[in-house]
Amino acid sequence: MRSFFAGVFVFVLLAVLVLPAAIVSLPGEAPVTAPTSPEPAGADEGPVLKVFVATSGQVEEMPLERYLIGVVAAEMPAEFHPEALKAQAVAARTYALRRLKSYGGSGCLKHPEADICTDPTCCQAWMSDAELRQRWGLFSYPHYREKIAEAVAATRGLVVTYDHELIDPVYHASCGGLGTEDAEVVWGNPVPYLRHVECTYDENPPHMGDQVEFTLAELARRLGVEVAVPTSKGLDMAIVGRTRSGRVKDLRVGQMTLSGVEVRRRLGLNSTNFNWRLSEDGKVVFTTYGNGHAVGLCQYGANGLAKQGKNFRAILQHYYTGVDISPPPGVSY
Ligand SMILES: [Zn+2]
Ligand SMILES: [Zn+2]
Repeated sequence: MRSFFAGVFVFVLLAVLVLPAAIVSLPGEAPVTAPTSPEPAGADEGPVLKVFVATSGQVEEMPLERYLIGVVAAEMPAEFHPEALKAQAVAARTYALRRLKSYGGSGCLKHPEADICTDPTCCQAWMSDAELRQRWGLFSYPHYREKIAEAVAATRGLVVTYDHELIDPVYHASCGGLGTEDAEVVWGNPVPYLRHVECTYDENPPHMGDQVEFTLAELARRLGVEVAVPTSKGLDMAIVGRTRSGRVKDLRVGQMTLSGVEVRRRLGLNSTNFNWRLSEDGKVVFTTYGNGHAVGLCQYGANGLAKQGKNFRAILQHYYTGVDISPPPGVSY
């Protein structure tokens, strides 16, 4: 305690003697100002976003660069390689600017008073420092927080553009090794930078070989058509088309044809890379590989590429065809 008070005394002494000298600066010298907070909001932290925080129901104002730390932390495992975290930071920054109303963005569609919200099914996920402390634990929190803050800072002000416009930087957890999917397969419209690209880099991704089982009645109810063949043990179900990446494009069920995307939605499958078998007790067991819609950046693949020595620019340009990594058009900070 003694050294603490000694330290305080020295600090007070310095403040009394030195600060007035600094404030009353000599003519021609710039006045000395000290930062009042460890993370001051300033022009270098980018434009201010109005963020609807789902957990509190409040709209909070945050400078973009500070907001991004909570996004990258929520959207990607902190254990990932720094270059993968940087790629995620640039994608998240691009997404946020597409929402920012003062930049001509759409705002959050569910919460019109905000630019963006923290619900990943509406905008993109974000976690507060308190939530991150809980997720990582007190011991790992400082290290992970610093690692992610560095990834954001190293890419400050950079976004992904195609033909000088911000892209829609969609991403998914893991393609499961088949590569990414053409955008039109999932959403109907082709997008020039969301094309199928190979990806053999996913390293120990979760959700490889996940299984979900249904009774015949439940499957028929969910698919909206009878699946059992009455006279045999087989199912009246066949894959009739595959996408460029090799996922299920179309599935014939009885007299009906459903897209793989629709089957995934109706059955709640992790991906459209699936097969099935009949179990001995007469249930239909679906096995899926990968996790997510498979369009755009593959997060586990990005981590694999980073471990092979690729930087965040190369990673983004692999998953988003023909894009540039640059400051956002019309803004500099
Ligand atoms: Zn939203
Ligand atoms: Zn992948």
